[in-house]
Amino acid sequence: MSFQTSNLEAISDTFSSFLKAHRLEWEKSQTAPRNLFEKAAECGLLGLETPVRFGGLGAPFSDKVALARKLSEHSMAAAFALINSQNVASRLRGSDHARHHEMADEILSATRIGCTALTEPQAGSDFSSITTTATQTADGWIINGSKAWITNAAYADTIMLYAQTDASKGWRGIASFVIDARKPGFTRGEIYRLIGGHIIGAGEFHLKDYHVDAADMLSPPEEAFKYAMSSINGARTYVAAMCAGMMQNALDLAVDYGRDRTAFGRPLVEHQGLKWSLSDVATHIAALDALVGKAAQLIDAGEDAVLAAAHAKKLAGEVTIPSITACMQAMGANGLREEHFLGQHLAAAKIAAFTDGSTEMMKERIAAQF
Ligand SMILES: Cc1cc2nc3c(=O)[nH]c(=O)nc-3n(C[C@H](O)[C@H](O)[C@H](O)COP(=O)(O)OP(=O)(O)OC[C@H]3O[C@@H](n4cnc5c(N)ncnc54)[C@H](O)[C@@H]3O)c2cc1C
Repeated sequence: MSFQTSNLEAISDTFSSFLKAHRLEWEKSQTAPRNLFEKAAECGLLGLETPVRFGGLGAPFSDKVALARKLSEHSMAAAFALINSQNVASRLRGSDHARHHEMADEILSATRIGCTALTEPQAGSDFSSITTTATQTADGWIINGSKAWITNAAYADTIMLYAQTDASKGWRGIASFVIDARKPGFTRGEIYRLIGGHIIGAGEFHLKDYHVDAADMLSPPEEAFKYAMSSINGARTYVAAMCAGMMQNALDLAVDYGRDRTAFGRPLVEHQGLKWSLSDVATHIAALDALVGKAAQLIDAGEDAVLAAAHAKKLAGEVTIPSITACMQAMGANGLREEHFLGQHLAAAKIAAFTDGSTEMMKERIAAQF
């Protein structure tokens, strides 16, 4: 996958070197790094999709996908954290309110960090069952509830949050709001200790009688759920690309290792059993790239990408972990060394199998056409 936007190749090379230099120390300390966003802002990555006239790079969606793939060769968790913040800037830039545009600019400069909050302690795949409430007042809304498993929860202060305005209406009652974590009524909760992928900063927060101005309703009831469902096709596509990036990195490592290491008088890669195993990984990458490319093309053309994105993410959910373990197997015990980051890739592949719709939800989505 190549970049269409000039300079993006060079920017992503610079940022990849930064990730490679720091990812292990971040994961070993089990912390989400704040300076990840500052470095991304310095490189201009946070304004990836923001139009050039607003200080961004104005890149098409296919470039976002190519960037997600490339950065995930070094850290999927970092790529996911950055893209989640950047998504909020893009959404706020599309708002009618000047204050939202200022917040978008603050995300671009990393003085604010964004996140999107749908999931709750008791509602994940079944998004329409969220119980965070938004109660209308004379001048806005009062929000009460808790969110769980939110990327960037460690730092995010500009939150695109979904809440229920009328439980009797199910998904039709859900609206979205801009939450400013610096205001009263917001409390940060637990940041999770995971088996890996701490750079993603996933965790919880709580809202207690949090007041939102009427202007801070981003999408009204009916529209919010539809917006979430349409934007999720993009997320499914770039998450699948992230999986291709991790598999690519694992394959490159295994092939390099197998060329240098000999067993029974020949380089490892010349043994048929290993070659075949690694060729299966190469096929998985090629298939996933093709599905991701198709979904990205549809999204850039403004066409329906529901099925294409579901196929890509489903395949990613099924082949990434077996492919990475095949590469580790080909490297013998050395595949376990932490500096190769393959254990982190495994944890991130599992994360990818849940975010933006689990593999089972992709199967449901695909089967819905039958
Ligand atoms: C690291 C990380 C970061 C995340 N970041 C965000 C974020 O930024 N914002 C956000 O809103 N959410 C985020 N999520 C949450 C993610 O979207 C949810 O994990 C996902 O929606 C699944 O929900 P759940 O984990 O509650 O699983 P559940 O919905 O409880 O499901 C449990 C299992 O049952 C399966 N299942 C559920 N229903 C069915 C069914 N009908 N048929 C068959 N199987 C079914 C699921 O596939 C899953 O395997 C993140 C998750 C992780 C792990």
